[in-house]
Amino acid sequence: MSADPVALARDLIRCPSVTPAEGGALALIERVLKGAAFDVHRIVFAEPGTMPVENLYARIGTSAPNLVFAGHTDVVPAGDETKWNHPPFAADISDGVLYGRGAVDMKGGVACAIAAVLDYVTACGGKPKGSVSFLITGDEEGIAVNGTTKLLEWACARGEKFDHCILGEPSNADVIGDTIKIGRRGSLNGTLVITGKQGHVAYPERADNPVRGLVAVMSALMATPLDHGSAHFDPSNLEFTSIDIGNPVVNLIPGEARGRFNIRFNDCHSQVSLKTLIERVAGAAAGQRVRWHIEWEPSNADSFLTAPGAFVELVIGAVREVTGHVPALSTKGGTSDARFIKNYCSVLEFGLAGQTMHQVDEHTPVADLKALTAVYGKILQRYFNQGARAAA
Ligand SMILES: [Zn+2]
Repeated sequence: MSADPVALARDLIRCPSVTPAEGGALALIERVLKGAAFDVHRIVFAEPGTMPVENLYARIGTSAPNLVFAGHTDVVPAGDETKWNHPPFAADISDGVLYGRGAVDMKGGVACAIAAVLDYVTACGGKPKGSVSFLITGDEEGIAVNGTTKLLEWACARGEKFDHCILGEPSNADVIGDTIKIGRRGSLNGTLVITGKQGHVAYPERADNPVRGLVAVMSALMATPLDHGSAHFDPSNLEFTSIDIGNPVVNLIPGEARGRFNIRFNDCHSQVSLKTLIERVAGAAAGQRVRWHIEWEPSNADSFLTAPGAFVELVIGAVREVTGHVPALSTKGGTSDARFIKNYCSVLEFGLAGQTMHQVDEHTPVADLKALTAVYGKILQRYFNQGARAAA
């Protein structure tokens, strides 16, 4: 009997695992994988100032290659539950559609990967040719410091080696098979601070209004392209998200003005090269008169790219065989845990269709769960039968 991704997805959705709560989701996965003779580890990571978070690593097989399925079982909050037509943690199925928080992001994807792997392991008589592993975190939707990044360090320290990874985030735009994500942009936050001199608006000669400098430097930053894109990425982009002066009165020239911004950057840049570029542009616009500095926030979000090659081709072939679609290779969207995994092995993202992620009445067609399971099954077959050496 084959493993049922739909039943598994429903069971997972019924676990209220809003970050950082485990909610029973990892315990469920542990039970299922132990039943199939996986070596399962549950690890809690914590650090000062953060909530401890549970994670899971499981592996079957001891030889190479080791194909990893990565994902998260934590979900974003449901928001106002009265707005949901189907309760967020009930996992209702109505007209062939499964509803619930995490249906597409990404308990559905995790369920499909587990079902496909269990079927594959059964088909191999319980012993895959190489190894198959799961890296599952409960800290993806939060600040992501006690999750995949530490789980990878932990696994590496005990000698685990990874060859290729599929992260089951909802990569498809509309239908299963339309998009594989082969990269993601990085993200960096900063605040431009202009220091002036406070004073009475009627005596501007005794003050130095920082708003003038803020407007000049912001204009320069917004007018300067960071790059012109690369083979697989759109141009990097800077957006100001807030201007903060906080002046409640009408007769005061403020002493300081701040502009917060976020940059989404491609593989033309590192964080260091971006900071250098931004500070050069700001310095030129500010000239000698404007006093300015930039407060950079620490970021763990670098860009990544898995260049098209044997592994990407193998996944494209599996998607095509199951769905009939030739997937586009995309690097759009926000950051994901692939930014950590890329330091250990080639990683790409393929999962459900993402239209309703983080929304009220998040849902996925049941047919999509079956199709994604079939794609993962085909990837496993190809990887361990003909593809492993080519992909490695
Ligand atoms: Zn996600």
